[in-house]
Parts: sequence; structure tokens; C-alpha cells
Amino acid sequence: MDKLQMKTPLVEMDGDEMTRILWQQIKEELLEPYIDLKTEYYDLGLPERERTHDQVTVDAAQANKEYGVAVKCATITPNAQRVEEYKLSQMWKSPNGTIRAILDGTVFRAPIMVKGLNPVVKNWQAPITIARHAFGDVYKAAEFKVPGPGAAWLVFTADDGTETREHIHTFEGPGVLQGQFNLETSIASFARSCFQFALDTRQDLWFSTKDTISKRYDHTFKDIFAELYEAEYKERFEAAGITYFYTLIDDAVARVIRSKGGFIWACKNYDGDVMSDMVSTAFGSLAMMTSVLVSPDGCYEYEAAHGTVTQHYYRHLRGEEVSTNPMATLFAWTGALAKRGELDDLPDLTAFAKKLERAAVSTIESGVMTGDLAGLWEGRPRAKKITGLEFLRAIRKRL
Ligand code: NAP
Ligand code: MG
Repeated sequence: MDKLQMKTPLVEMDGDEMTRILWQQIKEELLEPYIDLKTEYYDLGLPERERTHDQVTVDAAQANKEYGVAVKCATITPNAQRVEEYKLSQMWKSPNGTIRAILDGTVFRAPIMVKGLNPVVKNWQAPITIARHAFGDVYKAAEFKVPGPGAAWLVFTADDGTETREHIHTFEGPGVLQGQFNLETSIASFARSCFQFALDTRQDLWFSTKDTISKRYDHTFKDIFAELYEAEYKERFEAAGITYFYTLIDDAVARVIRSKGGFIWACKNYDGDVMSDMVSTAFGSLAMMTSVLVSPDGCYEYEAAHGTVTQHYYRHLRGEEVSTNPMATLFAWTGALAKRGELDDLPDLTAFAKKLERAAVSTIESGVMTGDLAGLWEGRPRAKKITGLEFLRAIRKRL
């Protein structure tokens, strides 16, 4: 068989621990036999980040901007224990944070649905994608405890010295106080990424805030989305047969639970943090969750939603057999390849990526899966639990 050809390379960002092992196995078992794989390789494994003083992460993100599509393996975010374990000269920052800051993107997370692994909410028939605005609000807030009686004011001093003041509260006893902010530029980027992703995936877009209570702050989010939609996206949405729908967050929650799924739910930072954990748990497992960072200028970085699965890696190093689920990492590759195929007008490459995804899903549907899923399995026949590598080989056979 002739191998599929690529035009533009994928930016490949390798990672750490158990996912680094799966990364190699996915390439060897499911990609390289079928595709003349072109990648621009960056090793984001912690030893290489240390050796390059984290320059490799910045270079990888710049390459992502240049080439448009990247696929990233899970990476260690160092803490004090990792500094010791890897003898690091510094506690390097989270690679995901560095990449997100350079691409200025929004993260979209969606579950991989499989018959036999049922969502807790029984009417959810299609994935719900959460789009979280990953900047500002309570995550960048200033706050303190109020010790006793006194007046609290919100004060803004413009560069020309003019002051705007608003009375918050006159305390008669101790309490707490917080000030948060966001930026119109960041909200607009978030909105553009959401509209673009809805068009790319042909799904309706929902957006919710608490604008009835927060008449300036949340209302600004609502207004920016509405203005951009009218000015830049309305016609394209109509042509694609999809809708943009704004509603109050309490109403959204009720509608999401009663829905059949199959749409994107855009959330402010805190709402997205909480709702994405609720939605992903209700769909099943972190190892069955895809994640893609989309920048407002149309760059894509595909990854798994989970980490490097450290506990499995230590057991693997001790020579024990481990059953780590490669689905999310495999879908990062297929997502990136399909997007590359679309951008480079290589329909065979996109079709291959989709076939590979179907082969993976139907392998699980036949009852063959890794240990994390076996416990959740409600299908027939009884689940057969195998290792990650055996699972990849089972997919290859089916493919
Ligand atoms: P984790 O790697 O996601 O693993 C947590 C637990 O979830 C595992 O011990 C395992 O449970 C289960 N799990 C996760 N993925 C699985 C898979 N593919 N197959 C089977 N089980 C899976 O999170 P963590 O242990 O908190 O973090 C480990 C490292 O990853 C940390 O250094 C952290 O900085 C990094 N991290 C990176 C990213 C990223 O790059 N995107 C994200 C999060 C964390 P059992 O042990 O019960 O089997
Ligand atoms: Mg969270």
C-alpha cells in the first residue's frame, strides 16, 4: 500500500512519563505504517525543557503559530517534588500556560462517546463541548479580609489622573472584599474562537453569563459576543445552518441537562472550570476527553485532557503491566491530522483520521478496552481488559 502523503508538517510536541510511551506506540502502530508522517518535532519532555531553559516550549508555540496545527503530548508541570526528582534549576512554568499565552486561545473539551459507556444523564446522545474563557475574573482577582467597620470603594484612576469611584459597602463588622477584572480584547478573542470553532465543527453555540445581576461586568461579555456575531459571523452561521444562542446561566444549566447534547457551551472562566468537570464526569472519564486550543487567528493545538499518568509510569518502570488508556492521545493525533488534511486539501488524510477514530471506538464497542473503562462498561460482551499497547494493536487489526 502506498503511504498517505502530507504537505505541511504537523508541529509535534512530545511530553513526559506514561503518555510519552503511548505517544511513541501510537506513531509506530497506527500512524507511520499508513502515513508518510511529516512533523516538526519539539521535545517538551522535562529534561529537554531543563536543558534549553524552557526555550523549547516557546519555540514549539512559535512553530504552532507559523504552521497552524500542533499535536501535544501531556507534560509535567513542575512542583517542588519534581524540582527534586528531575534536579531542575528552576520550577519551570506550565507548558500549557506558556503555549496558551503565546497563542491567546480558548480551550474546547469534548467527550468521546462510545456505546456501552453511558452518560449519567440518560438523554445526552451527542457530546457537549465546553469552551472555557481561560483569562481573568476570579483567577486574577485582588482580595482581602475586612477587619472591622469601615467603607469599601471601587476606585479607578485613569492615566490623566481622573478618578471614578463607586461605593461597594459600608461595613459594620468584619467581612471579605474582592476586586476582579477582564479585558475587552481578551473577551473578543474568546468570542471569535468560539464562533470559529462552531463553524469548523458545525455545531450550535450557546453562551451564558449572569448579566441580569452583573449589569456592567457580565453584560459586557454578552454585548461583545452579540456585536461580533452581528458584524462578522451571522451570515456564515446561517449559511452553515447553525445558531448562536445567548441565555442566562441558570437557564443554560437547566437546558443542558434536558438537552440531547451536540452543541458548544461557551462559559466564563469560573463557570467553565466548574461546568467542564461536571460535564466530563457525567460523560464518563478524563481518558475519553478530547481537548483543543483554538486561537482567534485560526491556529490549533490538539492534546489530551489528562496528565502524564505518573502512577502508571512508576509501575511500568518497576516492570509491572499497566493498562493506560491511549484514546485521548490518539484522538489528539487524529484531530490534528484531520485538520491538516482539511487545510491542505488532502481529503484522504482527513478520511484516514476519521477511519482511525471509528476503528478505536468500535474496538471498545466490541468489548475490548483498558482497565479504566472496564469498570464503567455496561455493554455486551463482558469487558476484556488489556494493556494500552495491546489495545492499539487491536485497533490496528480492526482498521
Ligand atoms: P493524570 O496524569 O491525569 O492522572 C490522574 C489519574 O487519573 C491516574 O492516576 C489514573 O487513575 C487516571 N488516568 C488519567 N489518565 C488516564 C489514562 N489515560 N488511562 C488510565 N487512567 C488514567 O493526573 P495527575 O496524576 O494529577 O498528574 C500527573 C502529571 O501530569 C503531573 O506532573 C501534572 O503536572 C501533569 N499534567 C499535565 C497535563 C497536561 O499536560 N495537559 C494535565 C494535567 C496534569 P488510576 O491511577 O486510578 O488508574
Ligand atoms: Mg477545575
